[in-house]
Amino acid sequence: MVKKFYSSVEMIQQLVAFDTTSSKTNMHLIDFIQRYLSLHGVESTLIPDPTANKSNLFATIGPEETPGVVLSGHTDVVPVDGQSWETEPFDVIEKNGRLYGRGTSDMKSFIAITLSLVPYFLAQSLKIPIHLAFSYDEEIGCLGAPRMIAQFGKAQVMPLACFVGEPTNMKVVNAHKGVHGFRTTVYGLEQHSSATHKGVNAVQYASRLITYLSDLSNEISNTMSDSQSEFEPPYTTIHVGTIQGGTAQNIIPKECTFSWEYRLMPEEDPEEIYNKFKMFVDTDILPSMRKNFANASVDTIQRTIVPGLRAEKNSFAEELALNIAKDNSTGVVSFGTEAGQFQSAGVPTIICGPGSIEQAHKPNEFIELKQVSECEGFLRKLSEFCCYDKMYDDN
Ligand SMILES: [Zn+2]
Repeated sequence: MVKKFYSSVEMIQQLVAFDTTSSKTNMHLIDFIQRYLSLHGVESTLIPDPTANKSNLFATIGPEETPGVVLSGHTDVVPVDGQSWETEPFDVIEKNGRLYGRGTSDMKSFIAITLSLVPYFLAQSLKIPIHLAFSYDEEIGCLGAPRMIAQFGKAQVMPLACFVGEPTNMKVVNAHKGVHGFRTTVYGLEQHSSATHKGVNAVQYASRLITYLSDLSNEISNTMSDSQSEFEPPYTTIHVGTIQGGTAQNIIPKECTFSWEYRLMPEEDPEEIYNKFKMFVDTDILPSMRKNFANASVDTIQRTIVPGLRAEKNSFAEELALNIAKDNSTGVVSFGTEAGQFQSAGVPTIICGPGSIEQAHKPNEFIELKQVSECEGFLRKLSEFCCYDKMYDDN
């Protein structure tokens, strides 16, 4: 049963109750939002994934054909498996001025507050519309939003600005690092372990590649650290997360796979590290492997591309957000978000949302009720700004 009116807290309880862990469907939650919006006469468009098991939702409040301000959030959450929770993670509990539950900080509260304010937005005479853009699969590499963003300038008008409501304690954030994730598999030649001169040891060649990445990472931190930057740490980082390979101690392993990533300062060339790695594979590793086995190979596939968010000083999004927040400074964050994807499509974008990333992805995730009301105030103010043709020339 979908009600017509919810307080922000009631709506947070509703949304958290849908277990939208990225591995599962989000359609129950999307269906709920769609029915809620339609009770208010707001039509929404679903942009599903190829399986139709998950979907983005896009809706416009206010004049349809006018460029507006996007409020962006992801509907999926990270798993609770293996975490020790003191409360039931999908049942929001209020305790000591906080709401506990999976997704309360990352980032269902932002979506819930936005939805609970839909009647308020509708009561304003918006000249500039508010677009709702809710995605799927953000937590597993920002896979959903690009399908929705691809509609901008085609099925949807190109928006003026985008606010991504990831948790920043309502601080206006204008930059984050990009994330590029890869999986590399080394294929060697299996032999009895006594015949090292005949085999090609995939685990040992993979180790050389990993050592190369570690050395490159150290070189970058030693030579490319930007002391002016607010990023922590103020340089691009490289990291190897998993490795699997080999069968037994007495068999020369024929296969080894490892996953790795770099988190790139937003101004840097996204290809450079990959190209160096590829060069090392081609000029050093493969010639050596192929002395014993002509079919030896190293295959690398890119699994994640999350573009960084570049600071755009005085962009429309940044000025609008700072005006609403009555703040004059911006921050940066080190985690990846969909913001860089919106920016890459030509939409000025900032991040500003309730709650703290400190609580994200952890057991006993919570949001402070104070953050909920601060976000409510911010979004009310935004809708008031959207009633003027020129949004802030008197401020
Ligand atoms: Zn998030």
